[in-house]
Amino acid sequence: MVRKFVYRFESNKAEGRAEWKPLLGGKGANLAEMANLGIPVPPGFTVTTEACIDYLKLGHFPEGLLEAVRDSMSWLETCTRRQFGNVENPLLVSVRSGAQSSMPGMMDTILDLGLNDETVIGLARQSQSERFAFDAYRRLLGMFGNVVLEIDHELFEPALDAARRAVARQKQLSLPDDADTLARVVPDSVLGAEELKLVVADYKRIILEHSGKPFPSDPYEQLDAAIAAVFRSWNNARAKLYREMHDIPHDWGTAVNIQAMVFGNLGDTSATGVAFTRDPSTGERRFFGEWLPNAQGEDVVAGIRTPRALSRSPESDGSSLEEAMPDSYAELFKIQHVLEQRFRDMQDIEFTIEAGRLYLLQTRNGKRSARASVRIAVDMVNEGLLYPDEAILRVDPERLGELLFPAIDPKAGASAIARGIPASPGAVSGKAVFNAEDAQAYAERGESVILVRTETSPEDLHGMKAAKGILTARGGATSHAAVVARGMGRPCVSGCSTLHIDYASGEAVVHGGNGEVTTRIKHADSITIDGSSGSVYLGNVKTIEAELGPEMETMLVWTERVSRMRVRANADTPEQAAKALSFGARGIGLCRTEHMFFSDERIAAVREMILARDTKAREKALAKLLPFQTQDFAGLFRVMKGLPVNIRLLDPPLHEFLPHEKHQIGELAATMGVSVVDVERKIAELYEFNPMLGHRGVRLGITYPEVPAMQVRAILEAACTVQEEGHEVLPEIMVPLAFSEGELGAMRVIIDEVAKDVFAKHGKEVKFKVGTMIELPRAALLADQLAKHAEFFSFGTNDLTQTTLGVSRDDAGSFLPLYVERGILPEDPFISLDTDGVGELVRIAIEKGRVARPELHFGVCGEHGGDPKSIDFCEQIGLSYVSCSPFRVPIARVAAAQASLRRTRKYWR
Ligand code: PEP
Ligand code: MG
Repeated sequence: MVRKFVYRFESNKAEGRAEWKPLLGGKGANLAEMANLGIPVPPGFTVTTEACIDYLKLGHFPEGLLEAVRDSMSWLETCTRRQFGNVENPLLVSVRSGAQSSMPGMMDTILDLGLNDETVIGLARQSQSERFAFDAYRRLLGMFGNVVLEIDHELFEPALDAARRAVARQKQLSLPDDADTLARVVPDSVLGAEELKLVVADYKRIILEHSGKPFPSDPYEQLDAAIAAVFRSWNNARAKLYREMHDIPHDWGTAVNIQAMVFGNLGDTSATGVAFTRDPSTGERRFFGEWLPNAQGEDVVAGIRTPRALSRSPESDGSSLEEAMPDSYAELFKIQHVLEQRFRDMQDIEFTIEAGRLYLLQTRNGKRSARASVRIAVDMVNEGLLYPDEAILRVDPERLGELLFPAIDPKAGASAIARGIPASPGAVSGKAVFNAEDAQAYAERGESVILVRTETSPEDLHGMKAAKGILTARGGATSHAAVVARGMGRPCVSGCSTLHIDYASGEAVVHGGNGEVTTRIKHADSITIDGSSGSVYLGNVKTIEAELGPEMETMLVWTERVSRMRVRANADTPEQAAKALSFGARGIGLCRTEHMFFSDERIAAVREMILARDTKAREKALAKLLPFQTQDFAGLFRVMKGLPVNIRLLDPPLHEFLPHEKHQIGELAATMGVSVVDVERKIAELYEFNPMLGHRGVRLGITYPEVPAMQVRAILEAACTVQEEGHEVLPEIMVPLAFSEGELGAMRVIIDEVAKDVFAKHGKEVKFKVGTMIELPRAALLADQLAKHAEFFSFGTNDLTQTTLGVSRDDAGSFLPLYVERGILPEDPFISLDTDGVGELVRIAIEKGRVARPELHFGVCGEHGGDPKSIDFCEQIGLSYVSCSPFRVPIARVAAAQASLRRTRKYWR
């Protein structure tokens, strides 16, 4: 049986539905749904993603597809009472891509198909505008040439430039040198029919020259080629990159939507626009969008003309759609509400008004800033549109980092040199670069850059990804730059219209009110942009931390109701602990004590301890460190108010603490009363070829038991003191890098002896736990043996990853990216847990540990503890908590709640 490749829709009736996105793509499924809801859409049909996948596999159309397309075209002719290719009454169609998941601007679209030298005359007659018809024809030729015949669009530009020049000459305007200014002085709308006819002739010549064949005048030949080209565009480089960045599978394919053309450029009663049912930047509930009279859809998004606001405001001055076309606005306003209620999410809508008649061309769940995503989700719960658990699942935890983006410090007193549209929130500084390649090159050298462009296009994607922020001179809040930056979480200021970029000279200038140049920004000059306010500053302006905001606070409270796992923080100082607590951390999962040793007063004692000739000398140095460590731990206990505080005994190889500079070595020798040569010899002795697998972790405790003894004493002294102050304390003492029962047993003896001594001195006991990190495969495999001496396991997945894969965490940068690029590894295993390998060891360790000691509790404290995908895995295998850096705590809380909801499917209703 031939499969059904084509699904039709017209007003009030459709074969498809919203739920069929995998088959019809997002655009096709939603067009069908809009038709079902009685919303006016231009009639058309969707060619399925299955047809695309078949085409890409076979290299030709699958059997039955062309017949189905022909049948549906006849049906469309009946619906529209026009005929495809008919000279008197031509039907024109658009051919648009539409994948299951929206990939804005990544794939191709062709408009005005069906035009040729004859039908263009018919269109001119029907529309009573030769100019309009030839404008449509040249657009088709340009798009067809570029998309189907793969002719570089720049090759078409001289023809258009020549037409602009001719008009400029006729109007006796002075001729600017660069094409950009020329396009501004002589916009498309000024080109007359005669000029456009010349452009059409030129475009046809360019097509013949570069493709070796004339432009096909047969409309069906155009249509078939356009469908094939849209199928192929699924695999273009930018679409592939976009999929990789957004985890969209490569085997989904795109659907193709073929629809009767409607025109927003048929004169003053026609228009086109883009709207959001809520503000995509702040999440505020207000109908929001942009439109242009007498224009085609791409004019709004391409940012060539700066669009007008949809709704009336004190500044709109009659230019809003609400004022200019009140009936269409009212209808659109009603429709947007219907759509939001139906889809239960903020919608991003495209519409066209043709001679006073409104059509919806698209609706989809709108891309939004992270802040907006939280606000919209929480508001929708309050409006009764969503349940709290659905709201939690609506947020992408990875992007919540945006809520923590810094803002401009008002105290910095910086004054903006220019202002644009606040397109994607956050303030960021960097060197200004004017093209994507420079952005990438600078970023690879570790430099922070702001990509500054007149406008961006999908070709700039790699540069936008590499840049810390994006600034454009043109385009509104729905321009490519704005939409893509928001999706990527990059701060972006768009439509900064006083900015003019001269790519040739590598300089941007800002114009003042009288047209004079007020500021020059040269290549690599530092600038700061604030995507929350739209301001642009010269130099590096001081920024301050952001606040979570009330909606995020609400959502975080909800997460507590559904999360099984707790979120702790890796914190080494009382300040970090306080930050973590303010973000809702439920304890400290890892305090790396070595970080406490680097301050000036302590490092001398640490070095003295390391270089000590014998135990006595070492104990003398350790005695100097004891009061410092006791203070450190007391500080943590006070902040954490009875929540668990996990303190790791000294872990790094001692060599890391030794001086490298000559003068430091000299100073150390003097303090210790030994010769420089002696110190140098000792440093050389401590050198290791492979320090990560060397004398570190518990091995230090085995060789120098007085070191852990001092640290344990400090922990328990601090615990007793803080308890005596009337606070609760819950210390956890953690042994790093153990691989055997023997090592842990030896540490346990030291810990118990010190505890006895400290408690006797204080005349009271403090409850504490002793556990180990699992950072070595042997430890995981023999977890039942280790569990004899441990009350908890904390998976140090940074080390466990490096020791399991045999990949150095410090040196992997030279080859790991290639492994990911080639698909040998799905992701960087130091960012997202290698669940198959490392994850399996974690699973084994939990299972064996639990058998040996049922009350054992488990956490993860490697960087993976803040990674949403790894958190999902931690939930599945039953960890008690994840621990991550303080700033990632809110992200981890949401991720943990989502993981619980997904695993248990116990929704909170
Ligand atoms: C780990 O190895 O995962 C860990 C948390 O310890 P560190 O990163 O300090 O080695
Ligand atoms: Mg480690």
